[in-house]
Amino acid sequence: MIPVTSFASEKIAVFGLGRSGLSAALALKAGGANVVAWDDVVAQREAAAARGIRLANFTSAGFSHVRYLVLSPGIPLTHPAPHPVVSMAHSSGVKILGDVELLARSMAAARFVGITGTNGKSTVTSLLGCLMCNAGEKIQIGANLGQPALSLEPLDGSGTYVLELSSYQLDLIETAVFNVAVWLNLSADHLDRHGGIKGYIDAKKNIFKRQNETCVAIVGIDDPVSLELANQLTALGVRRVVPISGRRSVAGGVYVIEGQLFDNIEGKHVAAADLRTIQALPGQHNWQNAAAAFAAARACGLSTKSAVSGLGNYSGLPHRQEEVAVIEGIRYINDSKATNIAATTHALACHSSIYWIAGGRAKDLSLDSLSEVLPRVAHVFLIGEAAKHFAERLQGLVALTISGTLDIAVAQARDAALDCGDETAVVLLSPACASFDQFKNFEERGDTFRSLVQGFETMQTGPFAAKNTTQHAGSSE
Ligand code: ADP
Repeated sequence: MIPVTSFASEKIAVFGLGRSGLSAALALKAGGANVVAWDDVVAQREAAAARGIRLANFTSAGFSHVRYLVLSPGIPLTHPAPHPVVSMAHSSGVKILGDVELLARSMAAARFVGITGTNGKSTVTSLLGCLMCNAGEKIQIGANLGQPALSLEPLDGSGTYVLELSSYQLDLIETAVFNVAVWLNLSADHLDRHGGIKGYIDAKKNIFKRQNETCVAIVGIDDPVSLELANQLTALGVRRVVPISGRRSVAGGVYVIEGQLFDNIEGKHVAAADLRTIQALPGQHNWQNAAAAFAAARACGLSTKSAVSGLGNYSGLPHRQEEVAVIEGIRYINDSKATNIAATTHALACHSSIYWIAGGRAKDLSLDSLSEVLPRVAHVFLIGEAAKHFAERLQGLVALTISGTLDIAVAQARDAALDCGDETAVVLLSPACASFDQFKNFEERGDTFRSLVQGFETMQTGPFAAKNTTQHAGSSE
């Protein structure tokens, strides 16, 4: 834990006592602050009280003598409407901060790498962590992936925080400077929480705010919004911009062509690694991720040789293109973390003869971007709230069944895959939707898929229970 001492003896409010909120309350208390906290959920309040956190219902008690409110990223700041406690804070002149901001203030000597984008954040965060560890660097990895920011360990000037940052978390920073800021890609997501695409982009752009000439911006250029951003940042000329691509060469940057990773950061075309040999990074989207992690490792001072030498150690994350088993020749792949259409489009592009399980709570009602990859799908099995809507959109384009629930979908997909007799058949859970209609979160959905598949087990080659579920602190999916 990182004791936050900058508010010692001061009364400070914490609202939201999930993993990141509770960790912030404890870190502030350990640093000597007079913490008062609240959560709308009784169980969260009780858990905090059991750890010695004093409770106060801000709605009735108000914010007397409070200058700062630490807000959990899952709580609406602006849209669809500010939470009433947020509105109260504004009208009482109370400043709102997040836990990443407190980490940055508390550990100012350390280097900060922030990673954002619509898809691939967790993969790049964990991959960069792997490359840096392999090179013997002192690092801590967390924020939206794994440990909340203030549950990490303290680092001095020789250490690096590698932080996955959601748009919700980036909305809550004020003075944090990311020495290395990674922006992977941008497509529509979380629009309800940001009042539209502009709000979403603006929140994410906070990652570059306050960067100076000693800082580096690593920007994916494989989608139009991100390309324009890279051009704008380059034109501004404040920080060094390293463009990255998973599909085309780019001067002064890092890119992947047909699986070959090239380092052109110093203006020379240096072949760095063959990514096709790395099982945990399948598909072009992972080439973009590898280019980003490699570029960030280089920006942290690693040589080309040292940065690539850890690639082979990367074992991937659960729920992202995770092969859970091969049974009777059928591969079962858990991509439960694909919670938007763009992520699923990339997942479908990695396979053929796909028995695809999709649906849940839809975020994006347009399925247009799927058109190029639909020929790879043999049959789609639809679950959850979005099933009917997806069926209407996909009718006539692909064979489909409304399965309703995951257990039925998995059984139907298996039967259909076995019947087809195609050796390359894959049962792929890549929902393109959030999980909250039928599951607690994407992890529970992926774990359920894994155990349903285990029920079919006759022959097992996948890492099954070998991987632990990663917990997300930012509660966005
Ligand atoms: P995030 O943390 O941003 O949600 P993850 O690394 O957890 O991203 O990957 C989530 C899903 O998004 C994966 O299961 C995969 O289907 C898809 N994905 C991963 N990387 C990319 C990328 N660079 N571009 C598009 N989709 C991606």
